[in-house]
Amino acid sequence: MPTNTQEGFATRAIHSGQDPLQWSHCSVIPPLVMSTTFRQDAPAEHRGFEYGRSGNPTRNVLEACLASIEDAKHALVFSSGLGATTAITSLLENGDHIICGDDVYGGTNRFFQKCASKQGIKVTFVDVTSVKSIEQALQPNTKIVWLETPTNPLLKLADIKAVSEMLKAKRPDIILTVDNTFLTCYFQRPLEYGADIVVYSLTKYMNGHSDVIMGAALTKRDDIEAKLRFIQNAMGIVPSPFDCAQVNRSLKTLELRMERHQKNGLAVAKFLEKHSLVEKVIHPLLPSHQQHELALKQSSGHSGMISFYLKGDSKKFLKALKLFTLAESLGGYESLAELPSIMTHASVPDAERAKLGITDQLVRLSVGLESEQDILLDLDQALEAAQ
Ligand SMILES: *Cc1c(COP(=O)(O)O)cnc(C)c1O
Repeated sequence: MPTNTQEGFATRAIHSGQDPLQWSHCSVIPPLVMSTTFRQDAPAEHRGFEYGRSGNPTRNVLEACLASIEDAKHALVFSSGLGATTAITSLLENGDHIICGDDVYGGTNRFFQKCASKQGIKVTFVDVTSVKSIEQALQPNTKIVWLETPTNPLLKLADIKAVSEMLKAKRPDIILTVDNTFLTCYFQRPLEYGADIVVYSLTKYMNGHSDVIMGAALTKRDDIEAKLRFIQNAMGIVPSPFDCAQVNRSLKTLELRMERHQKNGLAVAKFLEKHSLVEKVIHPLLPSHQQHELALKQSSGHSGMISFYLKGDSKKFLKALKLFTLAESLGGYESLAELPSIMTHASVPDAERAKLGITDQLVRLSVGLESEQDILLDLDQALEAAQ
């Protein structure tokens, strides 16, 4: 949590960038401006907006709000999380090198391997729970270190501060990028630990209503902002004004939602850990988590993401669930369950999956905002049915 003297997190989420006085009609809720073009007073003389791709009032409101709650100087939104990844990767040139966690979001892995590689960008995947392995992978042409913490679906942690300190000592030119999608800026503040860029799939917890695909990049650095601002417009990776209005609305309840996701998630983790039909539960706030100490040090809480190994038949379990919906994605108000080995992580090669521990017994939950008792009852009856 921010420890500065400025307004609190919820206050900023509700008011930053939203001042009614910025509009002549003083609407309290920012207007959804759909217009793709803006009248000019004289040729090349405009009032801040000319064309919707290069700038839109509703988008500006969202970016100002995001920058404020992350304590970043700048926020840029993109048409998806992967769109933000595309933009950040476009900071590099042919022949440059990226070091990336070996357990990142599948789409990030696929983008680096199948798309960035075609632009001549090289990628090395390493176990980012070890700072040493990152240090050993450094090459003269390394330009970005890409962390995602906690990882998906195994919820392993990378020590952002330790990685940042190693890079500042050895290679201050390298841009440290952290994907903060799983915890959001409410629970984890990578920029305070030395990250240069925070990247989001806003699609998940930040929007939290499973009805918008969008991404963001946030930074305190003016040089990075200038380049990304150019890329956002020049490559055309922009979200719609309607989606911006939706996400801006959703941020107003981010604190409330994250607190409830955490409460429900912890209740599920503790319930499953005691359950006789469960082999093992992975949740960073359980003392049984391998990096529990780091979780307590690096983040101020955890979202609704849980993975666990069950003893019974995982397919029977998933079919028996009634409240949880069997679906990919995460971070919405509704509880979801999925089987990473054949759903979200099916594209990971068999051997790699086995090495990471993504077996057919591993189930991933995105615990939603429903009543705790109903969530626990549903899991219990499905575990019984899976025996
Ligand atoms: C979903 C996700 C992405 C990709 O975001 P999209 O909005 O789907 O493009 C990136 N990182 C993480 C951790 C994600 O969960």
